[in-house]
Parts: sequence; C-alpha cells; structure tokens
Amino acid sequence: MSSPNPLLAGLRGRCPNCGEGRLFEGFLKVAPRCGSCGYDLAKADSGDGPAVFVILIAGFFCAFLMLFTELKFSPPVWVHIVIFLPLTLGVCLGLLRPLKGAMLAAQFSNNASEARHD
Ligand SMILES: [Zn+2]
Repeated sequence: MSSPNPLLAGLRGRCPNCGEGRLFEGFLKVAPRCGSCGYDLAKADSGDGPAVFVILIAGFFCAFLMLFTELKFSPPVWVHIVIFLPLTLGVCLGLLRPLKGAMLAAQFSNNASEARHD
C-alpha cells in the first residue's frame, strides 16, 4: 500500500496515514482512531492554527470584495449585510474543515511532538 499525500488526505478529511478512513467524526471533532487502519488520530491537536488561516484567507477575500463593491457601486449598507454576511460565514465554514484537516495531516506527517497531548 502506498502512503497517501498527507496534505491532500487532510484537505479531503481523510486519515493522513492511509488516506481512506475518516479524519473527523463530526464537523470539526477529530475521530479518536482511523476506521480503516486504526491509526491513533486523537494524539494531535491543531489548536488555533486553522482558525488563524481561515481569518487571514477569508478576511482578505471578503474584505477585498466588500471594498471593491463599496468603491465601485456604493450600495446601501443593507446590501453589504445581505451579501457579505452569508458569504463571509460560508467562506469561513467552508475553509475551516479542510484547513484543520491539512494542519492535522501536516502534524502527523512531520511527527510534530509539540502538538501532541501526551
Ligand atoms: Zn487510516
């Protein structure tokens, strides 16, 4: 069995060891073990890392779009709220799980002992 690319496996929410089992058992809760290979997934903790990347990426993307919309069209405030509140929420929630998976996979593949609970 060839080992999967841990970054791609993490982005897909799959086990960084085998690339098959689920990495998450809920939306963001990490499964204690891989259902496919039994790899111990509970030993890593991504902490606030994924949230920082989500804030930076979504903040840049949404703030740029808001600024562009304001400068180009000058819509009333309610238009900004109706468009950019759901967009920002969707971008943040959409990025959080793949980025958490990628960070956890990077920790496993680099054997990051500082990030472990033990
Ligand atoms: Zn696995």
